[in-house]
Amino acid sequence: MVKAYVKTFGCQMNEHDSERMRGLLHKVGYTLTPDEAEADFILINTCSIREKAEQKAFSHLGRLKLRKAKKPGLRIGVCGCIAQREGERIIRRAPHVDLVFGTKNIHRLPQLIEKMIKTKRRVIEIYDDRERWQQFGCEIERDNPIRAWVTIMQGCNNYCTYCVVPYVRGSEWSRPAQEILAEIRDLAANGYKEVTLLGHNVNSYGRGLDQEINFPALLRAIDQIEGIERIRFTTSHPKDFSEELVEAIADCPKVCEHIHLPFQSGSDKILKSMNRNYTAAEYIDKVNMLRAKIPQAGITSDVIVGFPTEEEADFQQTLRLIEEVQFEGLFTFLYSRRPQTAAGNFAQQVPNSIKQKRFEILLEIQNRISSERNESLVGTQQEVLIEEGKALDGDGTSGREYLLRGRTRLNKIVEFTGPPDQIGKLRQVKITKANRFNLEGIMLP
Ligand code: SF4
Repeated sequence: MVKAYVKTFGCQMNEHDSERMRGLLHKVGYTLTPDEAEADFILINTCSIREKAEQKAFSHLGRLKLRKAKKPGLRIGVCGCIAQREGERIIRRAPHVDLVFGTKNIHRLPQLIEKMIKTKRRVIEIYDDRERWQQFGCEIERDNPIRAWVTIMQGCNNYCTYCVVPYVRGSEWSRPAQEILAEIRDLAANGYKEVTLLGHNVNSYGRGLDQEINFPALLRAIDQIEGIERIRFTTSHPKDFSEELVEAIADCPKVCEHIHLPFQSGSDKILKSMNRNYTAAEYIDKVNMLRAKIPQAGITSDVIVGFPTEEEADFQQTLRLIEEVQFEGLFTFLYSRRPQTAAGNFAQQVPNSIKQKRFEILLEIQNRISSERNESLVGTQQEVLIEEGKALDGDGTSGREYLLRGRTRLNKIVEFTGPPDQIGKLRQVKITKANRFNLEGIMLP
């Protein structure tokens, strides 16, 4: 039995690509193992969005050199965003790698493996945007039996000056609606309850397709699919976040009112330099538009600290925006220079010590806000989709005492006790305690 292991760095898009690669590996006869040490083929799916993610991938590759020295039959593949950008330079840096392929070559994995085995040579294949590529239609080995990711579009045309996505994922490309709907119907038939629609900018879904469809219309169509109970989506770009979309969210009962809307900075000077195409006031207007229609909506966001030329006054404007919007949670990133991006060449990079200090200040403020937002839910009743459970009596023989875990519509994790047959169901839970990162509650009859 030949065993394969896939290690993933990065975002949900990468996690989902790994599910697709696991499906392909299975199809060509590999047994998937959760234990890297026993694998005969290790595939590293890399992320290039931040310097730290890239360093992690290369240090992991470094450790695999030692493993390969002890196990000469071991084969190592590298894919994902670093592979797309670096191509054969990866081999120069890590000569123990046997296979390199890009973000648009995933569907070619079976042929690439065959070539690697037959020729006993290294194989490198990177398609660029001009080449015909097809990501979908292959079998997917999904990690979660209740919640599934569904790609609706890929790539991006926005060229934010800090971001590598347009270079490593290519230009924006939407998937035909009938294909997306068929995949979701199939998921519903197989017992999945929740779908998260993935794209680098889901709000621009439909541009360039032959059929007349946009993202709000797609949401309305998915909302009609029987068996699916919840719909989420990520990521949205504020400039494309429209009133029509807010109306669709309000009208579709299955669409969760949790919106991830990255703001990146509260300073107009920095936003302009990032090429984000909105001002801080326009961002707040979008938030107000959403809350006017859906008062219970929860917003999470991304923010970058220490973008080139960020001064104390710019940082203070970011803090003001955070206080004004009151996000449920924030993904906070220290700016890091990325190859190919415009901002990597900007003069006046912010010293690391200042970035770090601002990062800590911001985190402390957001932690307080997140705790307060969670506290405000104590005593309320929340709809929870139960995803997993752990036996409290040790071996689970009583069948009753389980610590169940699920998510509210705002994507907050809630824990409570109950029988394991509730896993996969939507239940009402009364919130009894709030922690910074999760909630505790009692399941209602
Ligand atoms: S919109 Fe998002 S994916 Fe596109 S360039 Fe900007 S940050 Fe990157």
